[in-house]
Amino acid sequence: KGRLANKVVIITGAASGIGKGTAILFAEEGANLILVDRDMEKLEGTAEEIRLKGGDCRTVCGDVSLTRTAAEVVETAVREFGGLDVVFNNAGIMPTADILGCTEETWDQVIDVNLKSMFLMCKQAIPEMLKRGGGSIINTSSVMAHLTEPGYTAYTASKAGILGLTKEIAVTYAEKGIRCNSISPGWVDTDMNMKLAEEMGGMDKLYPVIKAQQPLGRMATSREIAYGVLFLASDESVVVTGSCLNIDGGCTAA
Ligand code: NAD
Repeated sequence: KGRLANKVVIITGAASGIGKGTAILFAEEGANLILVDRDMEKLEGTAEEIRLKGGDCRTVCGDVSLTRTAAEVVETAVREFGGLDVVFNNAGIMPTADILGCTEETWDQVIDVNLKSMFLMCKQAIPEMLKRGGGSIINTSSVMAHLTEPGYTAYTASKAGILGLTKEIAVTYAEKGIRCNSISPGWVDTDMNMKLAEEMGGMDKLYPVIKAQQPLGRMATSREIAYGVLFLASDESVVVTGSCLNIDGGCTAA
């Protein structure tokens, strides 16, 4: 039982943050999960939490920017659970650098991990979704795709690219029953921002920035983001496709 009962769901970046919060919520909602991350130890931690609560999941350790990872993940879904209904493309990285400071290597890495990974996963997942008569794909973008600031060259470009990819898939597969949407989180309390705080010289430096940018006045929790992903994954959003859901505490309105 649950809002995702009998649905087979892939979640990338499930070892930490938004991916982990979503994996736990989706397990509570009855999903059969394939969890993906490059950090196997932390990924097994997520899986253990889910199994302790009686949930069902498999794990795949790999780099989402590689075709072989996407292929292994989709094969696992089909072998273990008989097909595929939902993909949450969420793994991402956020190195900070402006255009002159951003090396070509960093640019390629960010585009590969944040954007190309979604293209690769969709190539593997869509044929399986077509066999089931439909599915739902949710891609994690960011408020940075809408409002950027200096120092996030490759990240902003990758996140804006995700909005375009999402819309193209949505219009191509609407009649085939596959929906594709993105989410744009604002500030969320995850390792990604802990790392940013460290780079800035501590949380004391980051908090005033969050207060100024996010009218909510605090960071969101991963679970608060996961509720939006749940809506897009479930049949409740059956007429929502090609959209971006801003889950950002008011950032894009301010
Ligand atoms: P996080 O660092 O807590 O989690 C990201 C996960 O992705 C990690 O477990 C990491 O190991 C995994 N990962 C990174 N590169 C990978 C790769 N190449 N292959 C496989 N796994 C990989 O970060 P988070 O904040 O939960 O971020 C999740 C998504 O949300 C990212 O796409 C991020 O850009 C986006 N986002 C985060 C925020 C925020 O405030 N935290 C805001 C907007 C968007």
